[in-house]
Amino acid sequence: MRVVVLEAADRFGGGLRTEELTLPGFRHDVCSSAHPLAQASEAFRALDLQREGLAFAQPEAPVGHPLERGRSVLLWRDVERTAAYLGTDAPVYRRVVGGLAERWQQMVDGVLDPFALPPRSPVVTAAFGSAGLWGTTAVNRWVLRDEPARALLAGLSAHATLDLAQPLTTGVGLLLGVLGHSVGWPVAVGGSQSIADALVARLRSLGGEVVVGHEVADIDDLPSNRAVVLDLTPRQVAQVAGHRLPPAYVQRLSRWRYGAGAFKVDWALDGPVPWADAALADAGTLHLVGTAAEAVAAERAVAQGGLPGQPYVLAVQPSVVDPTRAPEGKHTFWAYCHVPNGSTVDMTEAIEAQIERFAPGFRERVLARHVMDPAAMQAHNSNYVGGDIAGGASDWRQLAARPAYSRRPWATPNPSVFLCSSSTPPGGGVHGMGGWHAAREVLRVHG
Ligand SMILES: Cc1cc2nc3c(=O)[nH]c(=O)nc-3n(C[C@H](O)[C@H](O)[C@H](O)COP(=O)(O)OP(=O)(O)OC[C@H]3O[C@@H](n4cnc5c(N)ncnc54)[C@H](O)[C@@H]3O)c2cc1C
Repeated sequence: MRVVVLEAADRFGGGLRTEELTLPGFRHDVCSSAHPLAQASEAFRALDLQREGLAFAQPEAPVGHPLERGRSVLLWRDVERTAAYLGTDAPVYRRVVGGLAERWQQMVDGVLDPFALPPRSPVVTAAFGSAGLWGTTAVNRWVLRDEPARALLAGLSAHATLDLAQPLTTGVGLLLGVLGHSVGWPVAVGGSQSIADALVARLRSLGGEVVVGHEVADIDDLPSNRAVVLDLTPRQVAQVAGHRLPPAYVQRLSRWRYGAGAFKVDWALDGPVPWADAALADAGTLHLVGTAAEAVAAERAVAQGGLPGQPYVLAVQPSVVDPTRAPEGKHTFWAYCHVPNGSTVDMTEAIEAQIERFAPGFRERVLARHVMDPAAMQAHNSNYVGGDIAGGASDWRQLAARPAYSRRPWATPNPSVFLCSSSTPPGGGVHGMGGWHAAREVLRVHG
């Protein structure tokens, strides 16, 4: 089928854009940086974008999580090297995480295609589900015994942007941990924009078109078509296409709950981050919060609509493996923390204080900084409603009905209107699976 992509911004890429946000020669990923899902998903495996020149760079340690007094726990590509930090929890880690890492592809295919009938890889999916269904606080209380494993799991699970007592939060942590051992958490050489460039190159090579600077305000204004696939969250779908959808469905969309927002800072640094634990220089992504209890408290505060004094800070240092990001000897670095949706509070100080806690002298390396609060996030990409970067709260209710209860949530009651955004399964992240499933639905109806 002939495909035209209409993009509101004057550059394509969405959450994959890379820009000189601070100083000339410093190329910052405005949003996404670490790409385990773009390595692992069925959609990206099939696209094989390396043929379009896309290259990834792998940090030796996908994740670093500093504890106190210069001690850290690191998730290395190697399961054994990671287990060495985990004391009495090492056997359970080897068994659960190491066991799933050996069958990662079946696990990922099952998780990213949750409504397949018959289910994909039921045995592996059940093994994943039996551990992943639990809230992280329950696993930390009843299963894990030592702080390093508890902190590692809490840091990984906090990517869910939920109270860590919520069911399924362990599933998020487990998925990300298993991917760290199997495909790594690589960054795209040259910046995440290279992933979007490769996608567009592939689309154009197949005869597709991309038009930038074209905001779709009403689907009635679109050129004649057989199918419209909306990469929009429910509130925007209701605005753009509500008059073409049954009122009950539009009402369902209007009840959609957006999740917590993100407050992000990008820095241009005149040297690497001065980590108290030198091993953290090898980590691509960092979870800066300290103990598991601190992570739980920080995420609970946000879930209850408040601001943590010491937030859970998620940071990425792409230039440690990709020198193209900054002039020689210099570095780019970014970090965000979760805040209540639409929050207007400046979190720069709180984020930098968490970094200083584990990297004393960090501020002295800062050449320039660029700050994005939730409003700036939404201005950058209108899909980030109130700064929510995942297209809606990802608790179990909104994972089961994303955005409505259906075996085919990518289809709407209108046979010409489809959805493919993070507000459809499998949710946020650069994995391409929303579009993959939506395209299948289009072909099922119109192919
Ligand atoms: C700070 C931050 C860090 C992140 N880190 C990671 C990470 O490390 N790894 C990861 O996997 N994910 C990460 N993510 C999430 C990831 O970026 C998103 O899940 C992903 O980009 C979603 O892809 P998408 O194609 O569905 O939508 P998007 O990338 O959001 O693209 C949607 C596009 O639609 C356009 N648009 C919106 N409305 C209209 C309209 N009416 N008309 C025309 N065009 C419109 C927007 O301009 C945008 O370009 C991060 C996000 C943020 C903000």
